[in-house]
Amino acid sequence: MIRVENVYKSFGKLEVLKEINLNISKGEVVSIIGPSGSGKSTLLRCMNLLEVPTKGKIFIKDDEITAPNVDIMKIRQNVGMVFQHFNLFPHMTVIENMTFAPTKVKKMSYDEAYKKSMALLEQVGLKDKENVYPGKLSGGQKQRVAIARALAMEPEIMLFDEPTSALDPEMIKEVLTVIQDLAHTGITMALVTHEMGFARNVCDRICFLDEGRIVEDTTPEVFFESPKSDRAREFLDKVL
Ligand code: ADP
Ligand code: MG
Repeated sequence: MIRVENVYKSFGKLEVLKEINLNISKGEVVSIIGPSGSGKSTLLRCMNLLEVPTKGKIFIKDDEITAPNVDIMKIRQNVGMVFQHFNLFPHMTVIENMTFAPTKVKKMSYDEAYKKSMALLEQVGLKDKENVYPGKLSGGQKQRVAIARALAMEPEIMLFDEPTSALDPEMIKEVLTVIQDLAHTGITMALVTHEMGFARNVCDRICFLDEGRIVEDTTPEVFFESPKSDRAREFLDKVL
């Protein structure tokens, strides 16, 4: 579903990603873990071309998204992204946030987009918030709307960049539960997270990034029980 081939990314002189090779299969849930500044967000953002790799190729299904003249909008429709800070449109109600892209970008009829959005709001437990503005929602509710909004585009891939890092502790669980339910639907997911329990219990695979390189790419069991690199061991000693 996602194939990252020998990707490098630099910002000026700073080389942030080095020799990244990563394949994510259909339905797989992969957690990207690593110290702050190791390039996790940059890697995720390369997967929907919010950042363009300096070198290397990325494929989504059979399309090379790093090819020149690629239709970025078309690719992004299939790759939903959820950010740490929700990024809802503050001047739009929940339902307006949700129906905007499906009707404007995907040219869905409003009726269809509305029905789909309401079903998704129900799925994330926020059906009664249809006409509320984001400013009136808690952080956990905002993030659940953001997830539902991304799903309204019917993507085959979902990318999450620290979706619970900006939340108060009591709201983390409600968001993780939504993501966990989603993980079981067969959608392909890549998730940057500091929630080690979640990574361990929900994800199929862990990619550990350090200084721009993938140092470990293994099962949660191996990663948490017997990581092979010193880097991963040091990291786990600090966070667990
Ligand atoms: P992580 O998500 O693992 O914390 P990032 O991918 O956000 O790491 O950042 C990796 C490095 O790249 C950091 O040193 C960061 O400062 C730098 N960086 C990220 N985005 C930019 C940018 N747009 N311009 C310049 N430097 C950036
Ligand atoms: Mg980050």
